[in-house]
Amino acid sequence: MIDLHTHSIFSDGELIPAELAQRSFAAGYKALAITDHIDHSNIDFILPRIIKVCSKITEEGKIKVFPGVEITHVAPAQIAGMADEARKLGAKIVLVHGETIVEPVPAGTNLAALKSAIDILAHPGLITEEEVKLAAEKGVYLEITTRRGHAFSNGHVVQMARKFKANLILNNDAHASADFVSSKMATSIARAAGLTDEEIAAMFENSQNMVQKLCV
Ligand SMILES: [Zn+2]
Ligand SMILES: [Zn+2]
Repeated sequence: MIDLHTHSIFSDGELIPAELAQRSFAAGYKALAITDHIDHSNIDFILPRIIKVCSKITEEGKIKVFPGVEITHVAPAQIAGMADEARKLGAKIVLVHGETIVEPVPAGTNLAALKSAIDILAHPGLITEEEVKLAAEKGVYLEITTRRGHAFSNGHVVQMARKFKANLILNNDAHASADFVSSKMATSIARAAGLTDEEIAAMFENSQNMVQKLCV
């Protein structure tokens, strides 16, 4: 199991990074990315600390932990600049907090995110055809989430991704230890979103490919 979207106390998660990693390891996870919520107030504070702890945890050898960010509620016109800044500061994986239907995320966030140098558009909500086409063209992963609320629109994301051949990735968006679902539950959530077993296997493979890319 892999979760490339998690939160520690450096944003609104419950655990410090070391415990987050240990809890996910105990739940059977082999790799995760710590992707705390960032805006212009905290990007330079959070990233060096997450990078340091990720390198120490990974060095121990039992689980791979990658430093990342989730650009959250930043004005759409400022997302591209923030993604570039995150890379410069050493983020290995860049997510944007997409237009979930359960939060008033600024309209235009999905499109601005997909025009930026990002890896994953998290919980993209009622993503449009134009946006999904762009995701497919740019190789940005669209997220299927196991998180309550955000998961309401998984079915829509699946249908759109299938239509325009965009790649999917499943994440927990874990904020606490109970959020690391079993592979059985992840599979059930994916099936409930309308994915076939073949598509689910391809989605899990996307996470593995991403981890391989991050290890280089
Ligand atoms: Zn989010
Ligand atoms: Zn998140």
